[in-house]
Amino acid sequence: MQKPNKRLEQQTCIITGSSGGIGAAVAKALGTEGANIVVNYRSSKEAAEEVAHWVNSHQSCGEAIVLKCDVSKEEDVKALFKQTISHFGTVDVCVANAGLQIDHPLHEMPLEAWKKVLDVNLTGQFLCAKEAINEFLRRGMREEVSRSLGKIIHMSSVHEEIPWAGHANYAASKGGLLMLMESICQAYAPHKIRCNSIAPGAIKTDINKDVWSTEQGKEDMLKLIPYKRIGVPEDIGSVASWLASDESEYINGTTIFVDGGMTCYPGFTTNG
Ligand code: NAD
Repeated sequence: MQKPNKRLEQQTCIITGSSGGIGAAVAKALGTEGANIVVNYRSSKEAAEEVAHWVNSHQSCGEAIVLKCDVSKEEDVKALFKQTISHFGTVDVCVANAGLQIDHPLHEMPLEAWKKVLDVNLTGQFLCAKEAINEFLRRGMREEVSRSLGKIIHMSSVHEEIPWAGHANYAASKGGLLMLMESICQAYAPHKIRCNSIAPGAIKTDINKDVWSTEQGKEDMLKLIPYKRIGVPEDIGSVASWLASDESEYINGTTIFVDGGMTCYPGFTTNG
């Protein structure tokens, strides 16, 4: 558990897809900063309740509640924000983290697999950002709490930069996210809204369990990571809590890569 230093006291954070993996670690990290936490799940209610219980049982944390929402559905996202605002009064930080992979070689990819990944990974992030911005603008500045009107953190991927054969829907969703994030910054930075992305490299979660759970898969993964360690969700949690806090106030419209150097293309270390 990171050291509690209360950088998000009196702030409320929604973290989508936070019943496990990276989202759960972000929820715990932001909670540890003193924030109120909305643990969002799509189907794993029990796992979401465990994350909320963890937050509620640590004294340094704010209060956590659990809310169901499919981020690809506009009515669900609207309800997520409405319920959060009715319980906590407002939203200060939105971490749009929910995401998934459905992999196929492009020439065999069913349209449904393309659409589903874009619906969750890109449209879902748009819907969350839109609701968050509307709430920030409605609520107005609370200078005693933060120097920003509100903060949006998109969970992107190294694949907003690195092409990924066999995963074109996923790479396209994350590439699109880069332009969404930068366009939001351009439009709303004058309102003191901060919008940034975190781009994880290979982090041990369910999304890539089929790879890291075998010796061969682990070895292949490590070849892509100059730092020679597969990441853990807490590596993302600590960056998210700093990025949500005023310590990073002047960072806007940027992607922070948390990847052990993966985007330095280690395949070229010995002349390619
Ligand atoms: P994960 O599978 O453990 O978590 C993804 C979460 O998103 C799950 O809790 C899932 O239920 C939720 N989700 C999926 N569809 C949803 C929907 N329609 N509505 C609400 N929630 C939904 O995987 P993870 O690694 O923790 O992934 C979290 C984010 O990090 C994703 O956006 C992923 O693309 C990104 N990411 C992960 C890695 C990695 O190596 N693990 C690398 C780069 C980016």
